[in-house]
Order: sequence, then C-alpha cells, then structure tokens
Amino acid sequence: MPDRTQDCRGGGMNFDWTGEQKQVRDRLNAALKGDLGAIGELERADIEGNRQLLLGFLSRMADTGYLGLGQVADAHIDIMTLVAARELLAQWSGSLFLAVEASSRLFGTLAAASDQEDLHRQVLTPLRQGKSIGAVGMTEDRDASDPADTGRTVAIADGDGYLVTGRKPFVTNGPIADWIAVTADLDAQVAVFFLPCGHPGLAIGPPIPTLGFDGLTVSSVELTEARVSPPFVLGPLPDQGLLDLLRLREDLALAQLSVGLMQSTFDAARFHAKKHKRGGKPILHYQEIGFKLAELLTLLQTAQLLTYRAAWMWSYQAEQAPTLVRCAKVFAAEAAQTVAAAALQIGGGRSYLADHPLTRFYRESGYPGLAGTTTERCRMAIADDMIKQHPV
Ligand SMILES: Cc1cc2nc3c(=O)[nH]c(=O)nc-3n(C[C@H](O)[C@H](O)[C@H](O)COP(=O)(O)OP(=O)(O)OC[C@H]3O[C@@H](n4cnc5c(N)ncnc54)[C@H](O)[C@@H]3O)c2cc1C
Repeated sequence: MPDRTQDCRGGGMNFDWTGEQKQVRDRLNAALKGDLGAIGELERADIEGNRQLLLGFLSRMADTGYLGLGQVADAHIDIMTLVAARELLAQWSGSLFLAVEASSRLFGTLAAASDQEDLHRQVLTPLRQGKSIGAVGMTEDRDASDPADTGRTVAIADGDGYLVTGRKPFVTNGPIADWIAVTADLDAQVAVFFLPCGHPGLAIGPPIPTLGFDGLTVSSVELTEARVSPPFVLGPLPDQGLLDLLRLREDLALAQLSVGLMQSTFDAARFHAKKHKRGGKPILHYQEIGFKLAELLTLLQTAQLLTYRAAWMWSYQAEQAPTLVRCAKVFAAEAAQTVAAAALQIGGGRSYLADHPLTRFYRESGYPGLAGTTTERCRMAIADDMIKQHPV
C-alpha cells in the first residue's frame, strides 16, 4: 500500500473541510440545530419516550446522509466526512452521540459486512433510513481470551440454525433497540448473531444507572438457547480483523467524544469566568483563572489536532494510522478528565450542584478512557506497534 500521507492538498497543510465534508456537516447542523432543546428531553423521558426521541433524531439525520457514513468496512475515504460531521454531535450531546454511534456505526458496520439479502432488507435498510435502532453486545462478563473460561457466550449448530446462550453485561441502546447483534463463539471461531427485540430466548435487562450520559440507555442482555437462522449470522469470521476494525473505529469515535466534551466544558468554564465577579471584576481577570483556561485551551486544541491527524492518516490507509488512533484516544481521554476537573474548580461551588453543566461534563469525562479499548490496553498496543514497526 503506498504511503500517501505526504500528499497534502495544495502542497501545504490544510485544516479546512472539503466541500463535501462541509455539506454533510451543514446538513446535519440544519437538521438538528433547532432540536437542541429536545436533546435534553432524552434524559427526562421514560424508556419509550427515549426511544421515540432517538428515532426522531435518527430519521432527521438519515436525510443528511450522516447515518450511512463509515459503515462499509473498506470504505476509508468517508472517514473525514464522518469526523467533520460527528464533531458537531459530540459537542451537542454525549448521550445522543453514543446512542447514534452504537446504532449506526457499530451495529451498522456489522450489518453492512453481511452479504445476506434478508439481513440487508430487514435490518440495514430501516437502520439507514433512521427507522430502527441497533445495539451491539461484544463485551463479556468473563475473560473472553481464556479458552478455559466457560462463562463466554457460545453458539451451537442445531438443525438448520444456531442456538445462542450467554450474557452481555453492557449493551448501549439495549432497552430501546429493534435489533441486537451479539458476538458468540462458534466452534473455535467467533460469529455475530442478529436478533430482533422480543425474540424467544433473548431477555433484555432493566436500564442500568450509570455515572454519566443520563440520556443514554444501557442494559445487560441474556441469551438462553436463542435460535438464529443462517441469514442472520455473520461468520464464523475467519479472524479478528472485522472486530478489531470495529474497536478501532469506536476508539476514534471516543477520541472525538472526548474532544467534544472538552469543547463544551471549556466554553462553559470560560463563560462562567467572564460572567462571575469577585473583588469587583470577572474572575477571568485573575491570572490563576486565566492561566488555567489557557492550559485547558491548549489541551483541547492538541487533542483535536491529534484526532484529526489520526483520522486523516486512516483515510489514506497509512500503516501508522491504528497507532495514531490509539495515541489520540489516550491523549484525548486523559485530557478530557483534566479539563473537566479544572473547569469544576473554575466554577466554584455553583458548578458542584448536581444539575450544573460542569458537573455533568465531570461525570461524563471518565467514560472515554475506560470504554472501547481502555487507556491501559491502548498504551500496550501502542508499545506493541512500536516493536513491530521498529524491531530491535
Ligand atoms: C455505559 C457503558 C456502555 C457500554 N456499552 C457497550 C456496548 O454497547 N457494547 C459492548 O460490547 N460493550 C459496552 N460497554 C463495555 C465497554 O466497552 C467495556 O467496559 C470496555 O471495553 C472495557 O472492558 P471491561 O469493562 O471488561 O474492562 P476490563 O477488561 O475488565 O478492564 C478492567 C481494567 O483492567 C485493565 N486491563 C484489562 N486487561 C488488561 C491487560 N491485558 N493488561 C493490563 N491491563 C488490563 C483495563 O485497562 C481496565 O483498567 C459499555 C460500558 C459502559 C460503562
């Protein structure tokens, strides 16, 4: 694969979006900007209300072309368009961002990887039209890499189909999804099974309260000899390639979520520092506060640039792109926590109240580092990549 990372448009560095990227971004902005108030409703609604609100957002996003972006496993070129548009969502609402990523990107990528017409017609088409919600259960309670661990989700062939049994402890959108894709061991390989909500043998747990993202619904999923017919099975997969790709895409999304959280946090902290007076002047005029904000802006800008660069390298299929995505995720996730903690300090006692935006950002900032590939595992993978790229 030629390394085209040196092919900069116009011969220099150009951080502007292309016409097509701007168009998708502008369409998404136009479709949702007027609804930003309704995004807050996601948090207050009951489960059915949350589902209806999300479907409303999805159907408006479908018209913008946003939902189908980044679903096809080998379509690299639309990554920057996705990044450009997704940045908006990351600033507006982490809950909506994560719900849409789980449905359109994670579930959508798995559905798009199947060559089964039935699955495309019944599952992928309504998903792309914003008429249904998807969810993915990959994380296991037990140690998935230990073959001796018998607690993993397994599938066995039975007649003309498969019976799937196991448990997935965390499934984003689980309580509101139309379709759930779960990974399970099939003989010595992994396969993905697509099940509609209400399917016999599929039990969705109650919504799990979490530290942050109050508008996101998460539950466990239990499977007891749930029967799945072959058109709704992807695999057995020849290797971990597709699932690794999915994780990497999730990690890039989580880096973007971190940047979005940082931007919202920084804006709220700066606004407060300009408005709030002590000693007869806005606290922004005190060096201690001004320097803190300068530090936060530096972290935000650096995380954003690194995330752009990782995505851009990926769009050119550069060999180092996976390493850079992990670097971006580690840096952005840790920076988001630093920014959220410092902003809370700038907000003083007011920002410690439960419904204050800075409290919300503080609660949400812990998530990107532990979700997807955790910060520790990212660092291990970066180190492994270095050894592979520069053998000693
Ligand atoms: C709100 C929420 C929503 C979620 N939604 C989904 C979803 O929709 N679908 C889904 O599949 N999952 C989902 N998850 C699960 C999430 O992706 C996992 O929590 C994440 O991947 C980390 O896995 P784990 O919890 O099993 O952590 P563990 O793997 O148990 O890690 C625990 C700690 O040990 C460290 N660690 C683990 N292995 C090693 C190692 N080899 N060496 C060194 N350190 C190690 C980790 O870095 C971490 O610090 C969700 C989680 C949450 C909290």
